[in-house]
Amino acid sequence: MAVRTVTAEELAQQQEACRRISLLWEGKHPYACVTTYGCQQNEADSERIAGMLEQMGYTLTQDQELADLIVFNTCAVREHAELKALSKTGQLKHLKVQKPSLLIVLCGCMVQQEHRMGELKQSYPYVDAVIGTHALHRLPEILLSRITLKRRQFCIPNEDGLIAEGLPIHRQPGPKAFVSVSWGCNNFCTYCVVPHVRGRERSRQPDLIEAELRQALAQGALDITLLGQNVNSYGHDLPQHPDFASLLTRLANVEGNFRLRFMTSHPKDASVRLFEAMASSPKIMPHLHLPVQSGSSRILRRMNRGYTKEQYLALAEQARKTVPSLALTTDIIVGFPGETEEDFRDTLDVVEQVGFESAFTFIYSPRKGTPAADYEDQVPREVADERMARLLKLQETVTLRRFNEQVGKTVEVLIDTADEFGCGGRTPDFKMVHIPSCTSLRPGDFASVRITQAKLNALIGELCPRENA
Ligand code: SAH
Ligand code: SF4
Repeated sequence: MAVRTVTAEELAQQQEACRRISLLWEGKHPYACVTTYGCQQNEADSERIAGMLEQMGYTLTQDQELADLIVFNTCAVREHAELKALSKTGQLKHLKVQKPSLLIVLCGCMVQQEHRMGELKQSYPYVDAVIGTHALHRLPEILLSRITLKRRQFCIPNEDGLIAEGLPIHRQPGPKAFVSVSWGCNNFCTYCVVPHVRGRERSRQPDLIEAELRQALAQGALDITLLGQNVNSYGHDLPQHPDFASLLTRLANVEGNFRLRFMTSHPKDASVRLFEAMASSPKIMPHLHLPVQSGSSRILRRMNRGYTKEQYLALAEQARKTVPSLALTTDIIVGFPGETEEDFRDTLDVVEQVGFESAFTFIYSPRKGTPAADYEDQVPREVADERMARLLKLQETVTLRRFNEQVGKTVEVLIDTADEFGCGGRTPDFKMVHIPSCTSLRPGDFASVRITQAKLNALIGELCPRENA
């Protein structure tokens, strides 16, 4: 099996399916509700799902009761995410009873797993269509079949992955936008289901990435996050082998006043070239999400991460040295099979030494089909819970220390929320700032804000006098 690009003919077939569906409504206005579970990649996929649904004549809504079509874009990265999607699917049964014409579609990473298929077929008979990650662009054709043939549809092709360019995109309103630079992953960390459900890494053509970025900017986006499971290996599969640092520099040269971010950076592939590119343009924000996963070299080896504790520490130091005012954030897994108290202390040590501004922390969740799920030395839940509590406590202290360093400084905030109680937004280094009782700003405004207080989840600030002038 190999990576394949969707042809223009295939895309035209899907557009024809959209057109045929849109003719079925005969003056009615059908509504569709798309719910996203999981990561930013899923959010980006949901914007394409929404784009295709609009082409079929659906109006988008967040109200399930109003909807004629409900799509769940699911996640499989931890068991909790799957259980949540399954339980929310279960709750749709009563809506289907109330409105038998309601269509229910499941797609995303959870449904790409073979073992889920039988369960969905048998125990969720009110689900109308199940669409795997490699068939997302075929949503129109599959829905059309469901509607015209009146049969449930299951489409989970077992491919290494597809490149589907040219799909319509319905962007979420607001100043933030996601642009994928690659899909899939080749790293096979031993705990992770992503390579199994998203296929091999496929880099997008730089021209198409730039075109999508320009389109997002034209639609009002001001804060663009470039997405990839490992942005640092971008380009190895393209003819000219462009690297991520050069892509970043090229995109930062696009005219306009916008912010450029990216995630995720795998430490084994992060390079000085990347840090230098970050330092070289004011449009590339000084924030690096660099998942460490564990501080123990022994556990990192078992995770197949490709770096040691010492290499990670050196990289973090290099990044901070090269990029002025850099914020470093991370992901950490607690209770990976075989993790001893000593291994865990190495994790605490890295948190302390690097001083992450914040961390996403997860208790290890065995994923079917991944090597670590079969390791015999699984860590008991109580031990993992106890370690997690200690980790959270330490990270809170470190976060507060970092945030307190901001008090008294003036920072530029891009506003993304505003209501009668005040407004909020992000600093260049991705810290959340709340400005209480400020009602003069709207999402999309840039504001100069003096930080007055540090809380755990956000900084508190006030507008600098010139903003009030
Ligand atoms: N590609 C990204 C992240 C993908 S998944 C990267 O390499 O960093 C997001 C995060 O979920 C991971 O960084 C990891 O911390 C966590 N994660 C993935 N699989 C997990 C599992 N089986 N149990 C617990 N956490 C997991
Ligand atoms: Fe999963 Fe590792 Fe790939 Fe990230 S790099 S998606 S953690 S396999």
